[in-house]
Amino acid sequence: MFSIGLTGGIGSGKSTVADLFAARGVPLIDTDIIAHQVTAPGGVAMPLIASEFGSGFLAPDGSLDRARMRELVFTEDTAKARLEAILHPLIRAETERQRQAASGPYHIVVVPLLVESGNWASRVSRVLVVDCPVETQIERVMRRNGFPREQVLAIIAKQASRETRLAAADDIVRNDEAATLETLATQVDELHARYLELAG
Ligand code: ADP
Repeated sequence: MFSIGLTGGIGSGKSTVADLFAARGVPLIDTDIIAHQVTAPGGVAMPLIASEFGSGFLAPDGSLDRARMRELVFTEDTAKARLEAILHPLIRAETERQRQAASGPYHIVVVPLLVESGNWASRVSRVLVVDCPVETQIERVMRRNGFPREQVLAIIAKQASRETRLAAADDIVRNDEAATLETLATQVDELHARYLELAG
C-alpha cells in the first residue's frame, strides 16, 4: 500500500496542499480530524475518559470538556500521559482502519506532528513536507486564527524546527511568501505524477 505522510509546521499550508491532492482524487486521511472525532459527542474515547478522569470532564453534550482537561494537564504532571494513553491507540486504530479502506493507487495521511511523534516515518512510503519560512508561518496563523504573535511563537516552539522537519523529508512543497495556488498546483501535479508512477 503506497502512502504519503504529509506534514509541516502550523500555518505552513498542509491543509491547502492536502486539498490540492484531494482535488486530484487522492484519498486523504487526516489525523487531526480523527483526533477530534474520538473526543466529540459519542466519540469512542469518551467512556474511557469518563472512567479515568471522572464524568466531570465531559461537556453537557458528551464531548470532552477541553478547557477543563487543559487545566488538569497544566496542573497535574501525569494527566497528559494518562490522556494520551487513551487517545493514541484509538487514533492509531481509526487511522489504520481508514488507510486500509482507502481506494486508489496511493493515499495521503496528514500528520501535523509526523516528525515529532513516534514511528510515523516508518509507517508511510514517503514523507512530504510543506515548507515555508517561520516568519511566513507566524503571519499566516496570526491572520487565520487571530492569535497574537506570542501565542503563535509558543506553538511553533513546541514543534520540530524547520531544519529537523526538512531533514526528514523525502519530498518538499515550497509554500513561501511568493507561492500562489498556481505554483502550489504545479508542484502537486508533479508530485502526483511521480507518486502514481512509484505506486504503480
Ligand atoms: P496548515 O494546515 O499547515 O496549518 P493552512 O493550509 O491552513 O496551513 O494555511 C494557513 C493559512 O495560510 C490559511 O489561511 C491558508 O489559506 C493560508 N495560506 C496557505 N498558503 C498560502 C499561500 N501560498 N498564499 C496565501 N495564503 C496561504
